[in-house]
Amino acid sequence: MKLTVIGFWGAYPEKNEATSCYLLQDGGTNVLLDCGSGAVAQLQNYIDLAVIDAVILSHYHHDHVADIGVLTYSRVVDMNLKNTDQPLHIYGHQDDQQGYQQLGKKTFAEAYDYGEKSVLSIGSLSFTFHPTSHPAPCYAIKVKSQSGTSIVYSADTSYDESLVPFIEGADLLITETSFYEGQEAKSYGHMNSKEAATLAVKGNVKELLLAHLPHFGDHQQLVNEAKKYFKGPISLGKRGLTWEE
Ligand SMILES: [Zn+2]
Ligand SMILES: [Zn+2]
Repeated sequence: MKLTVIGFWGAYPEKNEATSCYLLQDGGTNVLLDCGSGAVAQLQNYIDLAVIDAVILSHYHHDHVADIGVLTYSRVVDMNLKNTDQPLHIYGHQDDQQGYQQLGKKTFAEAYDYGEKSVLSIGSLSFTFHPTSHPAPCYAIKVKSQSGTSIVYSADTSYDESLVPFIEGADLLITETSFYEGQEAKSYGHMNSKEAATLAVKGNVKELLLAHLPHFGDHQQLVNEAKKYFKGPISLGKRGLTWEE
């Protein structure tokens, strides 16, 4: 299973960048986790849009779904040009009806729902979900390959120990890290670097990727702070960064 970081910014994309979007590839299976602002332009550096099978959305905040509409339009164009005959599959939860109802487009994109107990199979990958603590209903997403490799994406959340059993033993944890150590994050529904690293420690994960990064400070400081608590490898969200196992 290969992960490529397409966008890692929180809130809005910096120049020539994107907000939350991660490309998962395993054999012939191509799935996106979230589809934030700027994602469609960035994706084309790494994949032909016509071969994306599915998108799974953690929640309906703009920095996670802004490009889902234009990704759907790309499928309209690709199907009309006969580049593919496969509609895009879009998975979202129904805890927010307004967000869910906007997904899908007849013939070209099919919307499906997931919930806390769902186990989705898409190609060779399987996905499970756990609710997070965030102002909008949001789910952390765990993906497993057939060889047993697992990645957990925290999506947006404040520090919440109910996530610990869900992330237990993951090969890679992608955590949101919206603030620096010592900064108040909980009231915004987000985590700081110490909280992100503590979650990784309690969940016994093997590697940590800090993402959903802030628009202030020096991001290397986030790594230095996380290193005080989590002793495994730590990387920082970066466009095009890949992880494979
Ligand atoms: Zn966000
Ligand atoms: Zn959010």
